Amino acid sequence: MTPTDDLTSLGWTAELAEAFARLGESGWLPGRVTLEHQHLYTVAGAGGDRLARVSGRFRHRARFKRDFPAVGDWVAVEVARDGSATIHAVLPRRSHFSRRGAGQDADEQIVAANVDVVFLVSGLDRDFNLRRIERYLLTAREGGALPVVVLNKIDLVGGVSEPAAQVRALDPDVAIIGVSALTGAGLEHLAALVGPGVTAAFLGSSGVGKSTLINALLGEAVQRTQEVRLADQRGRHTTTNRELIRVPAGGVLIDTPGMRELQLWEGSAAIGSVFEEIERAAAGCRFRDCRHGGEPGCAVVAAVEAGEISVARLEQYRRLQRELVHVAAERDERAAAEERRRARVAGRAYRAHKPKR
Ligand code: GDP
Ligand code: ZN
Repeated sequence: MTPTDDLTSLGWTAELAEAFARLGESGWLPGRVTLEHQHLYTVAGAGGDRLARVSGRFRHRARFKRDFPAVGDWVAVEVARDGSATIHAVLPRRSHFSRRGAGQDADEQIVAANVDVVFLVSGLDRDFNLRRIERYLLTAREGGALPVVVLNKIDLVGGVSEPAAQVRALDPDVAIIGVSALTGAGLEHLAALVGPGVTAAFLGSSGVGKSTLINALLGEAVQRTQEVRLADQRGRHTTTNRELIRVPAGGVLIDTPGMRELQLWEGSAAIGSVFEEIERAAAGCRFRDCRHGGEPGCAVVAAVEAGEISVARLEQYRRLQRELVHVAAERDERAAAEERRRARVAGRAYRAHKPKR
């Protein structure tokens, strides 16, 4: 296999080649991040899989978590004589999925980049939950990927016509595929969406059948490792479980816990496309920041009263809005705390250097 073939199988495009050429560094090679483990990455494409770290200059310049490489990113690496690799740049992302950092940390974190298709998987046995599907649709849209609703475990229920109709009521244009990962029914429709040059990711609660679907797409030939153990440069063994997997028939799958259990990060732009009728009515509210919760002159509540918008839809909309406001507030709080910290540090530095009288 020539290195060029390998890049193509990873999803390399002419557009990426142009972006890479613009970096203007002849000593660097393009590659794609297939695994992420804190500050260590596995990069494929640059002449085999390599462990890489970001350069000191890169780290120095990176201001936010989102500036660091993530699974799915295309990067420019420099390979040293000993085979170790240094990441110098991340090429522009054509799409990305982000989430809030863990705990108090509300900084945006990229969990997967450059995803074309996202399979929003539900299990028809007991996981089927329209509200969750609606959130997933929103997240996928915001991430810039094409969402496909996958209704799995059709072998356990009579048919998909009823749940499919419910999903279509949420979004008339979304693609819906009924499958059984167990019997293989409908899998060809899923496989048809994963081909050369396509990056697909799976999103859905635990137990809906994502692993079984991925294994079915990969075929019996590929034995997936549950965990990948890597020795980092200090010789410690570390476990990681974010990965990008090549499909033998072409295309790549991204399977990361971060992607599987995505939390809403931003979605205010996409909310409008999922709740079109509400956004349309809201244009007539008296107050621009109307929350449609009993404010005077609210056109949305008027539309609900007139029977044009269902109460359930408005409730869902308000729940999502509250969640987004909550995320934004945490982010603001974090920024304010950082500001206070800087002021303290600056104050200390001033006192330390204050001219003595
Ligand atoms: P994940 O947590 O989303 O990765 O789910 P898994 O792939 O681990 O599947 C959870 C359980 O559902 C396993 O016991 C699977 O065997 C079962 N399962 C997955 N797909 C199907 C299906 O299409 N039909 C049936 N009956 N069971 C399935
Ligand atoms: Zn209103």
